[in-house]
Amino acid sequence: MVTSAQNRIGRDAEGRGGGAPAHGAAYAHAGHSPASAGRGPYPFSAIAGQEEMKLGLLITAVDPKIGGVLIFGDRGTGKSTAVRGLAQLLPQMRIVSECRYHCDPEDDPANCAPDCPRRNGDTDPKTEMAPVPVVDLPLGASEDRVVGSLDLERALAHGEKHFEPGLLARANRGFLYIDEVNLLEDHLVDLLLDVAASGENVVEREGVSVRHPAKFVLIGSGNPEEGELRPQLLDRFGLSVEVGTPTDLPTRIEVVRRRDAFENDPVTFRAKWQPEEDKLREQILRARSHLENVEVGDEALGRAAELCMALGTDGLRGELTLMRAARAVAALDGADAVTDAHLRRIAPSALRHRLRRDPLDESGSTTRVERAMAEVFGS
Ligand SMILES: [Zn+2]
Repeated sequence: MVTSAQNRIGRDAEGRGGGAPAHGAAYAHAGHSPASAGRGPYPFSAIAGQEEMKLGLLITAVDPKIGGVLIFGDRGTGKSTAVRGLAQLLPQMRIVSECRYHCDPEDDPANCAPDCPRRNGDTDPKTEMAPVPVVDLPLGASEDRVVGSLDLERALAHGEKHFEPGLLARANRGFLYIDEVNLLEDHLVDLLLDVAASGENVVEREGVSVRHPAKFVLIGSGNPEEGELRPQLLDRFGLSVEVGTPTDLPTRIEVVRRRDAFENDPVTFRAKWQPEEDKLREQILRARSHLENVEVGDEALGRAAELCMALGTDGLRGELTLMRAARAVAALDGADAVTDAHLRRIAPSALRHRLRRDPLDESGSTTRVERAMAEVFGS
């Protein structure tokens, strides 16, 4: 009975099918499921269990340059809920109201697109506060809808560029969430990873090109049983986390209890969790400002390298990500230097999607990372 309640509740929480964007809005907080519309998302701090997923997402809030996060697991484990919860936990951002990319008025106008009001003589644009966007990328979305579309006829006839921004423009400064990323066409995943890494979207059609800022954290969720991402694509995500239906009784009961309380009275539930939300927001902000001061000593770097060598990961991307992620974990802890404990906490998320298939070793990637950690760190 607990199982069916968990499944039903979790599925509602996934907000599937709620991703249709509001057209014409320069900015919109897209993708609320109908069930959660108008009452705000489930508080991030109230998510019971799922520690690995929560930590992975918190790291992106502290250091967005860590690269995207892959969330692997069954449907109905609250993946989308967690992303939405995190975005709304983050402080609102100041945006240029008339800018289609909702750029930061403090940022150099040269970093925004040519059609930004600030690049067209508006030295004192109207600004406003807006929540951090979470944009859903639906599986069937055309490339034009994702990257934006250029009206070539107008460009040829009038010599003017007419660009209709797509989902990447809306995701600027926020999160781009793809449910079932493993079912998305490879070339689109490739493109998204490129844009996420460069922070800029360039649309080119027959010699006409437009570029605009598109800084976002890419969050892809997927169920590995329904199809796999190519290893070349996997490796380009910063972290991968596993989620599952909790297997211990107390957590299961707590998940259901909290979700039930939220469904019955979201206003009271959110008010009750507000102090926890505030605490977590403070922790993120402190970690962000502390991040630069966290030392990664030779010993920590050596451990990271040993671990990657023991696992035989290709290239240096694994080490680099492991180091950065461990630094963010240390910053969240308020620590001044990265220790073994920080590395251990984040190593599975930083490395498990970078392992080469070993035909002689049938164990799962998590087991392999744990075995290598025991070798390097001792148990
Ligand atoms: Zn702008």
